[in-house]
Amino acid sequence: MKNVVIYDDFKEYEVRPPQLLKEYVGLLESEVGQFFPAKDNIVLKECPACGCREENRSFVRFKMFVYHECRECLTVYVSPRPSQQNLERFYAESRAAKFWEENMLAKTEEARAEHLFAKRAQWIEDICLGRQNKKLALLDVTPALRSKREQFKQLGVLTKFADRDIGDFCKGYEGETFEAVTAFDVIGSLSSPLSLITSAHKALGPGGMLFLSMTASTGFDIQVLWDRAARIFPPDHLNLFSPEGIEKCLNRQGFELIELSTPGQLDVDIVRNVIENEPDLKISPFLKYLLQKREEESRQELQEFLQRFKLSSYMRVVAQKRKDNESAI
Ligand SMILES: [Zn+2]
Repeated sequence: MKNVVIYDDFKEYEVRPPQLLKEYVGLLESEVGQFFPAKDNIVLKECPACGCREENRSFVRFKMFVYHECRECLTVYVSPRPSQQNLERFYAESRAAKFWEENMLAKTEEARAEHLFAKRAQWIEDICLGRQNKKLALLDVTPALRSKREQFKQLGVLTKFADRDIGDFCKGYEGETFEAVTAFDVIGSLSSPLSLITSAHKALGPGGMLFLSMTASTGFDIQVLWDRAARIFPPDHLNLFSPEGIEKCLNRQGFELIELSTPGQLDVDIVRNVIENEPDLKISPFLKYLLQKREEESRQELQEFLQRFKLSSYMRVVAQKRKDNESAI
């Protein structure tokens, strides 16, 4: 299976300025009770990735959402969790969602274009070139809070481009088929991640490719910081798949992985920032020493190591729809 490593000098604050993130999370915390009343929330009886019913450990966010870690595949998931209907209302009406759109997305647009979107476009192009310059008809599934996506429309390797909002797409896809479906940073915030995968299966022709990006539960910053990982909060992060978990989940739904990489660039930077801002943080003294006292080069090489061995918390996968119609759907 393909594994890609990417070099960049990208820093966390460029896409998530700490002050804006703090304000956003404060708004979320004040609104989750109103938008997600406990009586509407859905209890998951098993891991959404592998179906295992046992957990290793858990932590609580906003005094009401519990994150469970699956004992079998280490996927982390929230249960009880908001319904998709309440999530859609939240993204349409909440002050937090409005703040994210008007402040976080608007103020970080340039950095996102350079470090995130351009790389995704390059990724699609590389995969197409790897398939004997095959050109593709592509459907992009957009998140509830979207930012500009022009890069995909301009791609030379596409014969056709269409997009669909995540809410509509997950209700059940009907329509023409495509050769590729992309859903970047979407699967983590769905009440039912399987609804995205089954709709993508319907939207793709035999051999069609599904491109996904997500936060991985097994990534360095998530595992080191765990319940202190400030960038993990509901309802934006309800599903954090592990590499093993997303592979099992896709296999069960009629896909086969052709690439799984964790080309993240921020893990080490994120942990270092937390250590600097919280001197009393309980963390391995060795990690503290390495990240604070040693040269920049050691941190860069640690980040490269995380990428090479699929240990970063930014994960991307390409899965191909099986041609034999032997899907589990
Ligand atoms: Zn699992």
